[in-house]
Amino acid sequence: MTAADAEIAERSAVWTAAGAARLPVELRADGCAVTIGGVFVRDWSEADRRRRALRWWAGLWALGIAFVFVPILHFVVPPALLVAGPIVASRISGTKRTVFGGVGPCPRCGAAVVVGGGIELKWPLRETCGRCYLAVAVAPVRGL
Ligand SMILES: [Zn+2]
Repeated sequence: MTAADAEIAERSAVWTAAGAARLPVELRADGCAVTIGGVFVRDWSEADRRRRALRWWAGLWALGIAFVFVPILHFVVPPALLVAGPIVASRISGTKRTVFGGVGPCPRCGAAVVVGGGIELKWPLRETCGRCYLAVAVAPVRGL
């Protein structure tokens, strides 16, 4: 197992442990053989979204209450968190799919190419190999 394989396996394991599903993807670049990697996503059900939103809302308000007892900061932080609670909660409840990130071997040098998380999933994703600076297009494996 190469260092790149180990890195790919390690990242994949972290995302899988976080509840993400692996979407097989192809890494393509001009003049190179296609390699296969994975993008990790999690789809949130209606109930999941409601639960996550409520948890964030409650957490932010609890934090706001805690700051009521902190001198000076109590003028700013609790009102800000009071407002932020429902705003953040509505954002979270609107998030149907979370992208954790993706990883696959570079078509040219074989190094692990990491796709950033927290992005909107729009195929093909564009990434650059950190070792050989090859521009790589990442798209779902055809026929899926
Ligand atoms: Zn490379």
